[in-house]
Amino acid sequence: MKAKKDEIQYKRIVAKFGTSLLTSGSDHLDPGMMSELVRQLAGLHSQDIELSVVTSGAVACGRYKLGLPKKIKGIPYKQVLSSVGQSYLMSIYEKLFDKYNINIAQALLTRAVLCDRAGYLNARNTLLALIELNVIGIVNENDVVAIEEIQGARFGDNDNLSAMVANLIDADLLIILSDIEGLYTADPRSDPEAQLIKEVKRIDEKIFTLAGGSRSGLGTGGMLTKLQAAKMATACGITVIIAKGTEKDVLTRLISGESIGTRFLPTASKLESRERWMLAGLSAKGKLFVDAGAVEALNKKGSSLLAAGIVNVEGEFERGDMVDVFNIQGNRLGSGITNYQASDVKTIKGLHSRKIAGILGFDYGAEVIHRNNLVMV
Ligand code: GLU
Repeated sequence: MKAKKDEIQYKRIVAKFGTSLLTSGSDHLDPGMMSELVRQLAGLHSQDIELSVVTSGAVACGRYKLGLPKKIKGIPYKQVLSSVGQSYLMSIYEKLFDKYNINIAQALLTRAVLCDRAGYLNARNTLLALIELNVIGIVNENDVVAIEEIQGARFGDNDNLSAMVANLIDADLLIILSDIEGLYTADPRSDPEAQLIKEVKRIDEKIFTLAGGSRSGLGTGGMLTKLQAAKMATACGITVIIAKGTEKDVLTRLISGESIGTRFLPTASKLESRERWMLAGLSAKGKLFVDAGAVEALNKKGSSLLAAGIVNVEGEFERGDMVDVFNIQGNRLGSGITNYQASDVKTIKGLHSRKIAGILGFDYGAEVIHRNNLVMV
């Protein structure tokens, strides 16, 4: 079923590939499968769709390369497997994307890093910069340093990581490809009556019970982690689709509006959720007062806030903190995440961006608040 053209508004997409898919259920990467996925991504890339990929497969890859059996478990061991496998996994992606002259980049993230305000901002800025440069970021959890023993420090599964990445870059759509077709009304392996649910408007307890304890082969995530991921992403205004990666041309067909797998509708608008996060989620640590030229640029041109337009700074804040922006009459214009700490903004206020590096001895970019991290009221 084709959606109407004007319904298709997926400009920025995160595609997540699970281990079972990348290995085709075997104990090693399936180059045929990977090349097929990359071919589809290259097609989307050529249509100017902005892409980030969240990939699993490092641990499986490392285990295979070292020829070690699956039954040896434990955290340090997994970390070793992942560090062996990650570079190999990337080398395969690199070769495959090279065929299409597409540059890729590796980004290894952990939950602990993203919970830290500066870490969140750095990861966000980097992934957005990659998109601007037409480079496809290939993200995995940094299993080598992600400490499992510390509760909450680790994602542990790439489903939840993919939701976080989708949120981080303000994606429109998160596609979780795996070896399962989507969410069923019952376990299709044991219940012949089980039916694929095509659309879920809201993920509630009833939907969670459908996930049961289903797990797929080599990967960490089952339907449960996929639903957790979908819940988080949809609450951030992102549509989520869970589909079977072996379905022919699955990515291409999904983008053209075909209904495959299960689609989870966003439960908030993107702006709404971002605004909520910025305006309520973090409390402002300081105030920036800006001149009339900056007010005009922020309101009319949708520009970033540059040092040149800042006339006064109040409060003690760090890089990554939220600050409120005011005009000189004291009316609040909006809020955003600052790239510079208070003392640095005091030093560079009123100056041309070109001078920042010379005066501070470093620079985090021309923008004190990048447009991407700014919400106007
Ligand atoms: N980060 C793990 C890996 O690359 C995968 C975790 C998952 O499958 O969800 O092997």
